[in-house]
Amino acid sequence: MPELPEVETIRRGLAKRLIEQKIKNVKVYENKSFLVGSNNRAWLDGSIIKDVKRRAKVLIIELENEYTLLFHLKMTGQVIYRHSGSEIIDEGNFAAGHPTGDWLMELPNKSTRVEFEFEDHSKLFFNDQRKFGWIKLLSTPQVMEVKFLNELGPEIVDFSQNPIPDKIKESTYKEFIGRARHHGNSSIKAVILDQKVIAGIGNIYADEGLWGAKIHPATLVKNLNDRELRKLLREAKSSMTRSIESGGSTMQTFVNADGSRGNYLELFANVFRREGQPCPRCGTEIIKIRVAGRGTHICPKCQKMK
Ligand SMILES: [Zn+2]
Repeated sequence: MPELPEVETIRRGLAKRLIEQKIKNVKVYENKSFLVGSNNRAWLDGSIIKDVKRRAKVLIIELENEYTLLFHLKMTGQVIYRHSGSEIIDEGNFAAGHPTGDWLMELPNKSTRVEFEFEDHSKLFFNDQRKFGWIKLLSTPQVMEVKFLNELGPEIVDFSQNPIPDKIKESTYKEFIGRARHHGNSSIKAVILDQKVIAGIGNIYADEGLWGAKIHPATLVKNLNDRELRKLLREAKSSMTRSIESGGSTMQTFVNADGSRGNYLELFANVFRREGQPCPRCGTEIIKIRVAGRGTHICPKCQKMK
């Protein structure tokens, strides 16, 4: 599943290409992926994209006609934008999400679930091998009533700003700590992954944040003071910022829209997927354990259990 930095990277890439585009036609290859009532379909054709936003890992594409498309990529979703008549490898094109060769294939293909065509003949493909991802159409005021969006904890900072804010707001720290304190007997790893406590931290940034704050992931929240919780949020945030600034992609090797490959974890990860390697801080061998049902990477010397 893409983590928040990758979804933010997708948001930035789509915002650059989609804002002010007029939707000409929508082809649906898989109804399960396109949760739009047949009555609502009419709201799409001819509508103009006003803004591309994000809340946690959901992309929010606002239309000028007061309707909004929500995209959730889940495990294997991809968005692939091709402008008209271009070669597949062209700097105006954009592809992100689950990294597969589909990014560089003729489209639509067997994984294409929905295809948007714009008035300038450019296209946006929603590909999803396993079909867990979805697109929904709601009236814009309805978006704020969607239960799972409503229940999300605060965003750490507004990652859509450029540059990304350096400081986390005092009100965000307070809300995070308040929500975390409701789970005093849970491990901090489980709590930092809980999207109702803080939005957008997945397994990578949980491990990176806990290493940065020198907290053992199995520590119970009640055994951590506010200063430690603040430090944890700060460390997770700085790891996410570095990831977005490096064009954050998924944990596997990624294929950039221009066909180049890279591995973004190498650019910033200190512990995640680095078991057997030395801790960058103290040189002790990083180990992999299991906490909150998730593979967890720690330095056993820097992150002692309290
Ligand atoms: Zn260490």
